[in-house]
Amino acid sequence: MTQVLLIEDDDEIRSTLAVALHRRGLDALEAATGLDGLRLVVDRAPDVIVLDLGLPDIDGSELLRMLRTATRAPVIVATARGDEWDIVRTLNAGADDYVVKPFSAEQIDARIRAVLRRSARDAPDGPPPDRLLHVGGLEIDTDGHRVTLDGHELDLSRKEFEILHYLAERVGTMVSKEELYTAIWRQPHHGSTKTVDTHLSWLRTKLGETANAPKYLHVKRGVGVRLEPTE
Ligand code: CA
Repeated sequence: MTQVLLIEDDDEIRSTLAVALHRRGLDALEAATGLDGLRLVVDRAPDVIVLDLGLPDIDGSELLRMLRTATRAPVIVATARGDEWDIVRTLNAGADDYVVKPFSAEQIDARIRAVLRRSARDAPDGPPPDRLLHVGGLEIDTDGHRVTLDGHELDLSRKEFEILHYLAERVGTMVSKEELYTAIWRQPHHGSTKTVDTHLSWLRTKLGETANAPKYLHVKRGVGVRLEPTE
């Protein structure tokens, strides 16, 4: 059974999440402080860690640095809205993904499974790399940075590729534009999603679709964007 370590000082959030993850077939270890979390990492070697950045005893990015010396397990950072600099710092310090509170058990479960898939793929002794992602008629070559649509290669910029790749690894999941910006540009978005909107519209043109007739990029105003082939 996959073991998830939850490092979160809010008892209610932590225990609710632990129960919900257990229902979904994951085993949850719980730590209410950073140092407890670190101890559990050493003693129990969890497969994945969900780390709350706002802990009472230790700064989140400092703890992440310590966790990184103790384990190769992927770390998903959980943070309150508005802490974009924290997110950026922790992504740069080696976090694998992040979620903004409040998040659902379903959302964190999907993230956990995605980071575990990615880390299995990247492990030196892991299964052969799954370097081709398929979404409908799209084929995304993650190593070669190439994308084909129905067999035709698309001429994407680096950012367009990164956006498509990010969405393809979370296929069917709504991703907020703020998240996309923070993850791809590695900077706080300062409340504006203009840059993301611009790149999405270029990407959309290259995918041969329009906002009114989406084929892969489904944008929900004020919520985010989801990659999924239209039925
Ligand atoms: Ca907290």
